Amino acid sequence: MKPVRTRIAPSPTGENLHIGNAYTALINYVVARQNNGQFIIRIEDTDRTRFVEGSETRILESLSWLGIPHDEGPDNGGPFTPYRQSDRLAIYKQYAEELVKKDHAYYCFCTPERLSAMRKDQEARHEAPKYDGHCRKVESRKSPARNATQSVAGGKVESEKYVIRLKVPEEGTTTFTDLIRGEISFENKLIDDQVILKSDGYPTYHLGVVVDDHLMEISHIIRGEEWISSTPKHILLYKFFGWEPPIYAHMPLLRNPDKSKLSKRKNPVWVSWYKEQGFLPEAVVNYLATIAWTHPDGKELFTILEMIRVFDLKKIQTTAPVFDLEKLRWMNGEYLRRSQKSPARNATQSVAGGKVKSQIFDFYHGKYDEAIIEKTLSLVIERIKTLGEYEMMAGFFFERPKVFERPINKKLLTIAQETLETCIWNHDAMEKAIREAADKAKMKAKDVFMELRVAVTGKTVGPPLLESLELLGKEETLTRLS
Ligand code: GLU
Repeated sequence: MKPVRTRIAPSPTGENLHIGNAYTALINYVVARQNNGQFIIRIEDTDRTRFVEGSETRILESLSWLGIPHDEGPDNGGPFTPYRQSDRLAIYKQYAEELVKKDHAYYCFCTPERLSAMRKDQEARHEAPKYDGHCRKVESRKSPARNATQSVAGGKVESEKYVIRLKVPEEGTTTFTDLIRGEISFENKLIDDQVILKSDGYPTYHLGVVVDDHLMEISHIIRGEEWISSTPKHILLYKFFGWEPPIYAHMPLLRNPDKSKLSKRKNPVWVSWYKEQGFLPEAVVNYLATIAWTHPDGKELFTILEMIRVFDLKKIQTTAPVFDLEKLRWMNGEYLRRSQKSPARNATQSVAGGKVKSQIFDFYHGKYDEAIIEKTLSLVIERIKTLGEYEMMAGFFFERPKVFERPINKKLLTIAQETLETCIWNHDAMEKAIREAADKAKMKAKDVFMELRVAVTGKTVGPPLLESLELLGKEETLTRLS
């Protein structure tokens, strides 16, 4: 068997790594690791009109944050360098011309005006848009060289703009086997004579992807299902070049809860967003793993290493998997608490330690004092699902509240204030004293506690109140109350 080499081929056209691409990356990485193979990143930056400056760097950063390392790529090189398509233009041109020589492709000189008139006609006739084969016909076929010579004869060298198009057979079908979906066939007469080399000398996606996957010895192409309709063009290219096509597996597209394609408007799509909200990369990866595949033991929480042991690409489900942010939040909360527990399995007391502590220190680095985070973490850890929520819960330890969720009832608050002024500063003593004072004033202790909470924290919900006050200190608490 050929060595297993998988890849993702992101285009630097977005702000950051799309969560759907992160999903594809995870599966490609896992399949490579399962087979002692390599996982490669290739940057497909040939669409210059959609190019976004800095996108490549941010994509690589997000992958590294997720903990999905690559063996070869634009940043770390490898035996098939360069791994960025804009640095490989000469290669595509050479292969495109080889196809022209073999009569599997042809030069097309159609002007944008002609193409748009053609499209309008097709629309008027309710036909699917497709190149009409004008330059394919033998009588009008020419090469740029011939054309240039003709112009020279006219006294002026003028290089006419041209593209190279794939010469798709007019009859027959093109078929491939998808590892997840089985056999898929397309009628050739419905396949467009796709442009493979553009007039600016850049390849289109179809040529670039096939040439590079072949030259980089990619064994498995695992990508989103939106590429299924491109695959017959790729299969034809492999055939025309005389190359063996790789194994294909098209992953299901992630969906919004309403089953529409995962979109910016309905769901956060950039991996950077998940990082900024304080999701843990381990939880994001674990969630993605479960999105269209079930652990054979039915487990929901597992590491990437465990996934590598038991994952089976053929068992990916193809029915519209929903990206459920709530489920991810739940999972993230589990990860936060898990890494928080002491090694003794059933330790009832959470121990502020381990990995989550350093993750939260990093998250709030330069903003909040580590000593205070350390002291307060165990009070809130059971109540938060992301690192970002720590601030919502525990922000009052660092800053006096500027806004209050609701007005304060002074009468109730005074009971608390007067009691605390003379109280020993530990939560049991405070609780006893406030309950007694509330009884005496014929008030409900619960209401007094709530006034106290709002006055000190600004909010009606938060971590255990009296333990929090104990940490906050007597002086600070009384200053806030007054
Ligand atoms: N450049 C394509 C993308 O943006 C790659 C698709 C493929 O994996 O073949 O996702």
